[in-house]
Amino acid sequence: MLRAEKLVAGYVGAPVLHEVSIEVRPGEVFCLLGANGAGKSTTAKCLAGVLRHAGGRVFVDDVDVTQATANERVARGVSLVPEARHLFGRSTVRDNVILGAWTRSRSERAASFDRVMETFPQLPRLLKRRARDLSGGEQQMVAIGRALMANPRYLILDEPSLGLAPIYVDTILQQAAGLARQGVGVLLIEQNVGKALAVGHHAVVLETGRVALTGTAPEIATNPLVVDSYLGGIA
Ligand code: ATP
Repeated sequence: MLRAEKLVAGYVGAPVLHEVSIEVRPGEVFCLLGANGAGKSTTAKCLAGVLRHAGGRVFVDDVDVTQATANERVARGVSLVPEARHLFGRSTVRDNVILGAWTRSRSERAASFDRVMETFPQLPRLLKRRARDLSGGEQQMVAIGRALMANPRYLILDEPSLGLAPIYVDTILQQAAGLARQGVGVLLIEQNVGKALAVGHHAVVLETGRVALTGTAPEIATNPLVVDSYLGGIA
């Protein structure tokens, strides 16, 4: 599994994460929930190795990767789709997707590319378009497709539905669930708490950088605090 143990992290000044521990198992969607500023993206960045943490450890399948760089973690099977997507807008969809496998051999790249096109049947007809000309939902598929090119065993999706039309929100979350069914461990950061928990297996709720609740997705979805604060009082 992808495991964070007592992460302490921040930017300048006081830490924003206080001993956050989570475990993402292969084949499951693990929902990381919480209000704006609770520390969800910071946790994601620490797991992916793009932010150094001051305390705690990160393990990938029981290997301690705490000191490993982001590239080394990709090689170990951990890929991050950041909140801002970071596509190259002037480049084509094909080039953006292929970039996700720049360290791999030509044959591995071809195999991954075919798999990504199968996972996102919407992408093949968009391959020659510039990324900046796509809708938000299409861009999100390109961003996830690019991450899948590295053939990750663990995929971190930081607010994949942010700014998307409702029709795409369901599509993206169903695709996340589909990846988990294929054996990928998906860490899903999501503001659509009800929809995330509907596809999730386990969940953690962060509050001001601390784990406030942890449990199975059904337990979290029926927890009175979650119902009141995130689900509009409707369980
Ligand atoms: P959101 O849903 O708004 O993205 P979040 O739960 O992902 O929220 P983080 O982005 O992890 O929260 O932010 C946690 C805290 O760290 C916040 O107080 C935020 O202002 C602060 N923070 C985030 N990024 C930086 C940064 N680059 N420099 C300084 N402080 C930051």
